[in-house]
Amino acid sequence: FLKGRIALVTGSTSGIGLACARALAGEGAALVLTGFGDPEAIEKERRALSDLSGAEALFFPADLSRPEDNTALIDTIRERYGSPDILIANAGIQHVEPIATFPAEKWDQILALNLSSPFHLMQAVLPHMTAKGWGRIITTASIHSVVASAFKCAYVAAKHGLVGLVKTAALEAAGSGVTVNAISPGYVWTPLVENQIPDTMKARGLTREQVLRDVILAAQPTGQFVTVEQIAALALFLCREEAAQMTGSNYMMDGGYTAR
Ligand code: NAD
Repeated sequence: FLKGRIALVTGSTSGIGLACARALAGEGAALVLTGFGDPEAIEKERRALSDLSGAEALFFPADLSRPEDNTALIDTIRERYGSPDILIANAGIQHVEPIATFPAEKWDQILALNLSSPFHLMQAVLPHMTAKGWGRIITTASIHSVVASAFKCAYVAAKHGLVGLVKTAALEAAGSGVTVNAISPGYVWTPLVENQIPDTMKARGLTREQVLRDVILAAQPTGQFVTVEQIAALALFLCREEAAQMTGSNYMMDGGYTAR
């Protein structure tokens, strides 16, 4: 149902973004990928997504913590394909440290990528979407858009702010055929999480199962990870016509994390 649509997914070389790209390509959207990673693996994925959708997928390695890379990215997509109809602003990073010693440059970097990049991208694509009378903007927020955890000040501030941006954009676009929403995952099984397990096992003298249950998933009532495919399925639903009245909202998919 997305044939002829152009979809930009940021942070789509890994994890949630990659799963969203696959889901959209599966419905025929032409994909634009961004993110970092092994060039060969990215090229392999780009070709697989092109085959899946039937439209050539493009890859641009923009550093979206730089405002100028956001606007340059949209300009380049316009030259090649036209303005994106779907924007999934998903790229994000984390840094865990108490406020007392939290490096100011980490604060700036996290705010720049997790909050300002979605703003710059929205500013560039929203007028084209509203003029066209159709568009979907989805941001990957987090349970940290509604609750906090100690030592994650920049991430929590950025994700709370991101939902404010989403609500404002949704109001400005209301009635135009463009919807703007956030998806807020709890713990999702991604390389980001997987990579933390061996170190945590070593640091705490725990088994893999203990780390998963007592450290990572202790806060998630289901005791289970959200999967990237589950997040992608929700993003795909938000692109459907049935979701035309879903706008300005922040959809939790968190195994009950925020219900406590
Ligand atoms: P990931 O590390 O697997 O993917 C992050 C992506 O962002 C990668 O493609 C990476 O190359 C890209 N990226 C990093 N820095 C960038 C930069 N400066 N410019 C452009 N791209 C950059 O992580 P993920 O778990 O898939 O996270 C995706 C989003 O989901 C993030 O916004 C994250 O905050 C959010 N999230 C993740 C979880 C989780 O448990 N994994 C939970 C809630 C929210």
